[in-house]
Amino acid sequence: MFDHPSFDAHEGVHAFHDAQSGLRAIIAVHSTALGPAAGGCRMWNYASGDAMLTDALRLSQGMSFKNAMADLPLGGGKSVIWGDPRKDKSEALFRAFGRAVESLQGQYYTAEDVGIDTSDMALVRKETRYVAGLDEGAAASGDPSPITAMGVYLGIKEVAKRLYGSDDLSGRIVAVQGVGSVGAHVCEHLAKDGAKLIISDIDQEALKDVSTQTGATVVQPDDIYDVEADIFSPCALGAVINEKTLERLQVKGVAGAANNQLVVPEMGELLRRKGILYAPDYVINGGGIINVAAEISGNYSREWVDGKLARLIETLGEVLDEALSTNQPANAVADRIARKRIADAKGLAPK
Ligand code: NAD
Repeated sequence: MFDHPSFDAHEGVHAFHDAQSGLRAIIAVHSTALGPAAGGCRMWNYASGDAMLTDALRLSQGMSFKNAMADLPLGGGKSVIWGDPRKDKSEALFRAFGRAVESLQGQYYTAEDVGIDTSDMALVRKETRYVAGLDEGAAASGDPSPITAMGVYLGIKEVAKRLYGSDDLSGRIVAVQGVGSVGAHVCEHLAKDGAKLIISDIDQEALKDVSTQTGATVVQPDDIYDVEADIFSPCALGAVINEKTLERLQVKGVAGAANNQLVVPEMGELLRRKGILYAPDYVINGGGIINVAAEISGNYSREWVDGKLARLIETLGEVLDEALSTNQPANAVADRIARKRIADAKGLAPK
């Protein structure tokens, strides 16, 4: 563990096995310096135990940074369940996972992530109260996507302000990859502002809905990297900024909801050298976790969520300004600020 390339002084990495239900899960607690670790649960058919561990280690560190940048009283954690979400789900599996979460006595709060939905979390809730993102219950906050999308839209305006001196998006061309829960809402906001949209998805139905509603031009999934646009907004998959796509991009900014957009952190510097301003993914997409934090507090308030989101977008603006004025990649600036916030809370100097 301690030599693992993705190990980043995690406070705890817990492996769980339940013979009866077949549960194999890892809960990684990266940091509780700012509060209980929070981050979703992912169910995925990993190629190996090591791939599963790598995901848990990286994603939990990412959650620490995301929660710190959103100035939430939460640390970072993540859980992964090894299995095929289409075949391997059962009540017994999620209840066993719930008992695993409960055994950490509130050090970690779980919620949905890839492969998991609110009905799965309702089963987890039968065994533990350390669950968020529920549809029902006193503080249930439901689907966080509209809040995430609002943050992404406001973040796109921050990027435009730095690129063009104005956040007026009318006539600006935005290429949106993925028009699912978040992407479709982002398109709605952009269209209202008079932006011209170019969209891609592998779901024809979703494309049709969004193009009818917003007048967006549809392109084939792989062609989205080649379009001439002001801003590229990845709202589908991770690792879309890589050596192959970088040379194709003809945009001035990248600002979207997808997690882990850079295949490796060094891509941030390559974007910068190409003159592309990058809104770090875990900052611009923090709206969803703000919504979850409101639920965890036990006293959900939309005003509180809106206030935190506004502050997060200001923080994004500060990151972009520092990146531009010091010629640094924006992701490196954000990482430094996040590490400092966590280290300050621990009373340590950041490493
Ligand atoms: P979603 O599954 O609702 O939407 C994703 C969309 O991308 C789907 O319509 C899917 O068909 C499409 N897609 C898949 N492969 C594609 C491809 N090759 N090209 C184009 N489109 C493709 O997911 P979502 O909730 O909208 O989340 C989108 C992204 O934002 C994800 O990376 C997610 O991790 C991230 N994110 C979401 C939230 C949230 O609140 N939902 C919060 C933070 C980050």
